[in-house]
Amino acid sequence: MNYQKPKGTRDILPNEVNVWQFMEEKGREIAARYNYKEIRTPTFEDCSLYKRSVGDTSDIVSKEMYEFTDKGDRKLALRPEGTAGVVRAAVENGLLNNALPIKLFYFSNCFRYENTQKGRYREFSQFGLECFGADGAEADAELIVLIDNYLRSLGINDAILLINSIGCPECRKNYNTALREFASKHYDNLCDDCKRRMNENPLRMLDCKNESCKQIFKNAPSILDYLCPECKEHFEKVKTLLSKAGVKFEIDAHLVRGLDYYTKTVFEFTHAGFDGKILTIAAGGRYDNLVAEIGGKPCSAIGVGTGLDRLKSLVSQNLISNAPLYYIANTDEVEIDNILLIAEKLRKNNYNVEMNLTNRSFKAQMKYANSINADYLIVIGKQELLDGAAAVKNLKTGELQDKINF
Ligand code: ATP
Ligand code: MG
Repeated sequence: MNYQKPKGTRDILPNEVNVWQFMEEKGREIAARYNYKEIRTPTFEDCSLYKRSVGDTSDIVSKEMYEFTDKGDRKLALRPEGTAGVVRAAVENGLLNNALPIKLFYFSNCFRYENTQKGRYREFSQFGLECFGADGAEADAELIVLIDNYLRSLGINDAILLINSIGCPECRKNYNTALREFASKHYDNLCDDCKRRMNENPLRMLDCKNESCKQIFKNAPSILDYLCPECKEHFEKVKTLLSKAGVKFEIDAHLVRGLDYYTKTVFEFTHAGFDGKILTIAAGGRYDNLVAEIGGKPCSAIGVGTGLDRLKSLVSQNLISNAPLYYIANTDEVEIDNILLIAEKLRKNNYNVEMNLTNRSFKAQMKYANSINADYLIVIGKQELLDGAAAVKNLKTGELQDKINF
């Protein structure tokens, strides 16, 4: 039997892993710049954590979650998104009892049973950031600016930032009524999911991926007309701060997120570079009620998740510099044992070194050095052994460099 990877998963092969490392390196750099500290949480959690936080009626929980029962009869789920686990860990470990705000970031693989297509997989990776205990608009602006800077550091300068406010539960009461009223006029033309959402969770209808529903909801009432004075003021401040920071944005009054826990500011960075299709590459928002919802003391929060699988296809290889590889060849009259010692010395001096491990002829070694894309060649003959030094040839340009001592 020839095994194949499960549908919706991918192997990241050595020739592309450098892009992943680059995205992670830049992510860690930017996180440090804004004082975010890394957290690592389990790949699976109690199923009920996601039901409670992401929401029972969300697509993620109701259709896409990888749920299982373990041998001890525990109901568990593979992480469908990063925030719930981080909030759980912050509460469980008392992190929110320390001086606030506290800022956490993570690189996590997530699992969702989705229809797979370009940019949509069943296992995917997120670089996520969560800031707890800052309820002012400054925190919203800082996080959005951070993501803007992160994308630019990856060479992505043409993302579009969409922002909206979905208010607090108070503003949403009236809005939900208006939205239900609107949807009921189009009831017969809604997809089955939206028919269900209309009663359970009307806001969800605005996130429907079905084309005909999308057309209908283009004319839906705007939540911005229903914001309470506090939510309105918060949103105005976010906009002012982003403008001051020179970050361009568009207001999308129908932007909601696929998860239930958001309040006030929500945002998405989208990009058109997916075979002409527009996809979201980073998405987040404020979730001031989630910490209390899962058992912590009330604590405001704002977070974002960036989809690394989508970013990966936008990052140019040109930005990535790889450490050079040195190939040490032995001429046919030199014993390999000598090369082993020389290679070790160079490695101790931080050179990346490959050598003749299979007793190849000198000619065959040259072929191998080219096929593994070595950057420099060091040839060790009898004379070089005596000298304790050898010439270094740049295999890309053919030029000779300074001699190397060993
Ligand atoms: P979408 O509307 O595209 O389904 P979402 O609202 O489900 O996205 P979030 O849960 O907010 O997305 O996740 C944040 C980011 O993670 C997304 O913007 C996207 O870049 C990435 N992402 C989400 N689901 C997938 C997936 N199945 N495959 C690859 N990346 C994904
Ligand atoms: Mg989704």
